[in-house]
Amino acid sequence: MGTYTRYPLRITKGKGCWVWDQNNQKYLDAVAGIATCSLGHSNRAIASALTKQLKKLQHISNLYSIPEQEELGQWLVQNSCADSIFFCNSGAEANEAAIKLARKYGHTKLGIKEPIILSAEESFHGRTLAAVSATGQPKYHSGFEPVVEGFKFFKYNNWESFIKLFAELEERSSDVVAVLIEPIQGEGGVRPGDKTFFKHLKSFCKEKKILLIFDEVQSGMGRTGYLWGYQSLEIEPDIFTLAKGLGGGHAIGALLAKKSADIFTPGDHASTFGGNPFACRAGLTVAKEIQKRNILNNVKQRGDELKKGLSRIKQQFPNQIQEIRGLGLMQGLVIKEDLLLTSQEVISAAIEKKLLLVPAGSKVVRMVPPLIIKKQEIYELVKRLQEAFKVLV
Ligand SMILES: *Cc1c(COP(=O)(O)O)cnc(C)c1O
Repeated sequence: MGTYTRYPLRITKGKGCWVWDQNNQKYLDAVAGIATCSLGHSNRAIASALTKQLKKLQHISNLYSIPEQEELGQWLVQNSCADSIFFCNSGAEANEAAIKLARKYGHTKLGIKEPIILSAEESFHGRTLAAVSATGQPKYHSGFEPVVEGFKFFKYNNWESFIKLFAELEERSSDVVAVLIEPIQGEGGVRPGDKTFFKHLKSFCKEKKILLIFDEVQSGMGRTGYLWGYQSLEIEPDIFTLAKGLGGGHAIGALLAKKSADIFTPGDHASTFGGNPFACRAGLTVAKEIQKRNILNNVKQRGDELKKGLSRIKQQFPNQIQEIRGLGLMQGLVIKEDLLLTSQEVISAAIEKKLLLVPAGSKVVRMVPPLIIKKQEIYELVKRLQEAFKVLV
């Protein structure tokens, strides 16, 4: 179906941070399957673990205990603030599950009949109906109304706007069950969360006894230089969701909750494919490699180098570039608002320089390369982007 506008490229193979098209042209990949191929393309550990798993057991369903699922669940519990996990297959699905959990929490714990969830403007939570309704970007709602009820929006990182929204809800403010928010906004413009704002948010949720839900679909699993984006803000959510980087390029999503927030009982939620042995083996391999290869350290160092490199490009093109922002290997180059130049034009120019980039809205160029990227490859990335800008201006 006509759901995608695609770049004129056919990618046929990949290795590490590089991919090749059908004419054997080689590109440096700062997209990584949109922040999913965290260990790079054709990673050997993943290939070997998954080949073994394919020969052992591929799918069995959640009618039975699944050892690989238990092992990945245990790793996630041991390495995060969560106590329990529900596995699914994508980010949108993980957020759907979080929304259901929050609504049930409202009904059963808070006695709320028509729960409201607060979400941020410019957020992105996925394309299924409830997830898209929770997404604070009208362009994604257009044509699909009526959207799912029960979502209200405040300005990201803006405490005044949050308080104002709460006040405007008047008597319905007591129906608020949760706040759903990204610790660093991704698709909506690569905007890191403000520590002070999030501290206020955390105390507010605690005081009102409502749930703080983090969408870590993009920021989770090491992308920011921390294992979890919430660590960069020095607060813990009650619930968070994962997907993108978790499977290193394979479809897996997860809903994670602290004990106090996990009120699902048998029959409340389910997924046929969720947490299957193959997907969980992929997740386990990514988890083990992150630890074994000290990948978080690489993300911090390469992220700093990338930010410095991008700042040099900004100095060279001060009339075009507004700002460089991001965390770790999730960086955005913001184009000046009043210019005609769009992120798509920068990305097309970068393709000519054999560099792959992804937009985060019409004015932000997003860089989310594999977490294993090397110093030399960061240098190449910056050089190619700089050459693309030279052609554009
Ligand atoms: C990509 C993304 C989603 C949606 O994930 P899908 O796997 O495409 O459904 C949700 N939230 C955030 C923050 C994302 O970056």
